[in-house]
This record gives sequence, structure tokens and C-alpha cells, in this order.
Amino acid sequence: MKKYDVRLMTPYVSWENIEAEDEQAAIAQCTLEHWPFFGPMSFLAIEVETVVEGEECPHCGENRMDWLIWNDAGEIKCQSCESAYSID
Ligand SMILES: [Zn+2]
Repeated sequence: MKKYDVRLMTPYVSWENIEAEDEQAAIAQCTLEHWPFFGPMSFLAIEVETVVEGEECPHCGENRMDWLIWNDAGEIKCQSCESAYSID
């Protein structure tokens, strides 16, 4: 499953971390769940880079690359739940 940030430019609003099969599915999910009165064409879906399976945060499941940052101790610090972990 890929992850997307879905955005509407005017007015600016965004939903992050949407799990979906593709861009259309991500947009469909947002319009359905959040703002059904906007048509699907209004939205822009941007695919988010995720780490390979097994490297996601063991505590909260975060797998977005930008949210998992190597620290000086050689561990990965999860920006979602603030925990640090190492991978073999
Ligand atoms: Zn986490």
C-alpha cells in the first residue's frame, strides 16, 4: 500500500498520510471522509516515500521516510511517536 498527501490548493487544505492503492484512490478516500462537497478533480495527490518493509517504526508503524530520522547513536528516531529503534 502506498501513502499519499492529498491537497486542495484553494482554499489550501491538506490531509497527510493517506494509505491507498493509487492517486485516484487516495483522493477518493479524502473526498469521501473529509470533504464530500468538493469534486475529486479539485485535489492533488502526492506520493510519499516510505521505507522498505521491516524498517518501519515498531511502536507506531510509521513508515514515511521523512518521519524516520537517523540519530547520532545509529538509531532511527520516529518523529510520530518520539521513540528510537535500531534495525539489524
Ligand atoms: Zn513511531
